[in-house]
Amino acid sequence: MARIDFNNVKHAYPPPPGQAPVYALKEVNQVWEDGGAYALLGPSGCGKTTLLNIISGLLMPSAGSILFDGREVTQLPTTERHIAQVFQFPVVYDTMTVFDNLAFPLRNRGMSEARVNERVGEIAKMLDLTDRLQQRAAGLTADGKQKISLGRGLVREAVNAILFDEPLTVIDPHLKWQLRSKLKELHQQIGVTMIYVTHDQVEALTFADKVVVMHDGSVVQVGTPVELFNRPRHTFVGYFIGSPGMNVLPCSVDNGQPVFANNLLYSGYPAIAASSGKLEIGIRPEFVRFSDDGIPVVIEKVEDLGRYQIVTVSHAETQIKMLISEDQPIPAESPKIEFDPANLLVYRDNWLMEAGSA
Ligand code: ADP
Ligand code: MG
Repeated sequence: MARIDFNNVKHAYPPPPGQAPVYALKEVNQVWEDGGAYALLGPSGCGKTTLLNIISGLLMPSAGSILFDGREVTQLPTTERHIAQVFQFPVVYDTMTVFDNLAFPLRNRGMSEARVNERVGEIAKMLDLTDRLQQRAAGLTADGKQKISLGRGLVREAVNAILFDEPLTVIDPHLKWQLRSKLKELHQQIGVTMIYVTHDQVEALTFADKVVVMHDGSVVQVGTPVELFNRPRHTFVGYFIGSPGMNVLPCSVDNGQPVFANNLLYSGYPAIAASSGKLEIGIRPEFVRFSDDGIPVVIEKVEDLGRYQIVTVSHAETQIKMLISEDQPIPAESPKIEFDPANLLVYRDNWLMEAGSA
């Protein structure tokens, strides 16, 4: 097991002839603590797979260094890094049995057959593959094959980290839930650093202690699910996390306080300097409510989610989402809303302003 450090890691794939390189990773400084359960969350194309392949050594970064427990490994080949990696699509040998597939990474490293038997048995049990050990992998469904891939990632002991690259993409939703809980349980048992890549916030938030959010080649925030919800450091984190995401609304400043479309707002900010840059407020739908006086709005849409309703309102052509409980009445005449001052955030050029450092 190891702590993994990224120091100023950048990566550009070779550009087409005559074009300037585009950085798939812009500059990543990140510590993966030994034994942590991390999710790497971000939309397709933001650089997640690139980052994983740099950890495992499948890819050498264009710049920067990678350290395992303080030792530089940037130029080391995959075989010397002791990283297990599970890919998005199953990698199995169809002609081999399930047993031999699971045993492969162990036999490859010269483990005794007795120990191989024992270890494969344990992993098969965990993944409910015990009955199928003697079956050829070719006969299995996509789910079954992906379980073998997961098993191959988990079977080696003494690895520095296990990397999962969207491993549940091809798995059906019910089994997905089950396997994810299994992985989490397993992490608690064996305590190896795990990095789980996904573009699905629910997957990330249920698996990880710490979520690393990526956007366009950069890590924009690292935090617990609660931190990401309460204090998104970047507007992208605000709308990517939460359902619906955070409202990000244009704003100006009057006397140090935020103003939205001529409505002076209350906030926890002592004073915001009206200097340069794009100012926006961030307010989660959970913290927008109807009020007797406040910002006049037009109701655009009401969606009933059972215990909650999502109400879309608009003011001066800006849409705002509200999440309110089912029993809360929606005013029939001249509705007005207010934002909970304690949960109103202000962003300058997409980055959160701290209340004390305006
Ligand atoms: P993610 O896993 O988050 O979907 P990737 O790391 O696969 O993102 O890709 C990040 C960026 O790098 C994308 O713009 C993608 O098109 C580009 N990219 C990925 N692999 C290659 C490659 N082998 N050659 C050129 N560009 C690539
Ligand atoms: Mg990917």
